[in-house]
Amino acid sequence: MASSLFTDPVSDANISFEFFPPNTEKMEKTLWDSITQLESLNPKFVSVTYGAGGSTRERTHKTVKRILDETTLSPAAHLTCVGHSKSEVNAILEQYWEDGVRHIVALRGDMPDMNQDYIPHPQGYQNAADLVKGIKQIADFDISVAAYPEIHPDSPNLSADLDNLKRKIDNGASRAITQAFFEADTYFRFLDHCQSMSIDVPILPGILPVMNYKSLMRFMDLCGTKIPKWMQDLFEDLDDRPQTRSMIAATIANELCRKLYAGGVKDFHIYTLNRSELTYAICHMLGHRPKKEV
Ligand code: FAD
Repeated sequence: MASSLFTDPVSDANISFEFFPPNTEKMEKTLWDSITQLESLNPKFVSVTYGAGGSTRERTHKTVKRILDETTLSPAAHLTCVGHSKSEVNAILEQYWEDGVRHIVALRGDMPDMNQDYIPHPQGYQNAADLVKGIKQIADFDISVAAYPEIHPDSPNLSADLDNLKRKIDNGASRAITQAFFEADTYFRFLDHCQSMSIDVPILPGILPVMNYKSLMRFMDLCGTKIPKWMQDLFEDLDDRPQTRSMIAATIANELCRKLYAGGVKDFHIYTLNRSELTYAICHMLGHRPKKEV
């Protein structure tokens, strides 16, 4: 690959997008404008998140169903087991299967108070690995799970975290999607560890275009992702310059994708935050072009 800032327009990268369910009419419009814009890029799948403890249960379902009914996209529904009994989770899964949804992103989720230690529901799935096993007993869904290149904060160490990921795969997941990270080496190191554990499913890097550095700091602190000093420096004194921040965000994300691509990565999962412009720019720079009508 060329060493310039751009990849050649090779279009052999696979992309997928993550959206979250909107909770106002305005956000609904933003989401659907974005979905319309991004649909032409022909992503492998698009996923829709599930709010903590089921707080978006109806909205996630409605969004996934609308994607299925009104677009050519293949939707994946996120589902967490925190705060739900097995029968509640199973009923959601049965409904998705009946609707024609075939891909679930299976997650444990977090307690409503993020500082509280995780306690499984007494009649619920214990964790994501247990949930994956349960999903496969309901129907033959395609299942994605979460992976953590910088280790999940609840994990005592890397080895326990990798064991947990392996359990999720052995129970039936066919790919993992990573938590956001900002250094390509972090991902490549993680991939090596996965290979040494014979975890051989695709591990899609989760690409987060950073627009708002301050809110990122709060969020990443909770999920254990390190924010490099150079990134802090890049966003310094730009609080009142959203357009400049947006350009920088695209450059950072593109640079990360370019390094990943150069290292052989062909699948990219982009956290769109329901906005199309940055995501479109990243895909374009990866050499991805809208499919042409014939
Ligand atoms: P698990 O894989 O069950 O476990 C998390 C960690 O706990 C493990 O890494 C492991 O270290 C430890 N652990 C679990 N079981 C054991 C055990 N038996 N022994 C030792 N250690 C153990 N959250 C939402 O609320 N909604 C979403 O839609 C959502 N989407 C996400 C999408 C992606 C791609 C990612 C990366 C995260 C997402 N999350 C979402 C966040 C996720 O719910 C949290 O990170 C949560 O804390 C862990 O969920 P998990 O599925 O990774 O849990």
